[in-house]
Amino acid sequence: MTVATPRVCRPCGQVITGPADGVLVRVEPSISGPPRPVYAHLDHANLAGPDAARLRLLADVLARKLDALGGAGGE
Ligand SMILES: [Zn+2]
Repeated sequence: MTVATPRVCRPCGQVITGPADGVLVRVEPSISGPPRPVYAHLDHANLAGPDAARLRLLADVLARKLDALGGAGGE
């Protein structure tokens, strides 16, 4: 028999008791396995923080665009 892993709210660390109480806020990559879903209570979803992988991707894109334009603040 398989036991489902309880969903835990990332911001508050409490168990999400039912599907109507929580939301999937993002999926994080994992070095050692499959991507991991991140859940939060409906009231805490805005506290889950930014998606670090997307921020890194956006920073990389912006850095490449700046580099293509001649660099940031360079001469
Ligand atoms: Zn919560």
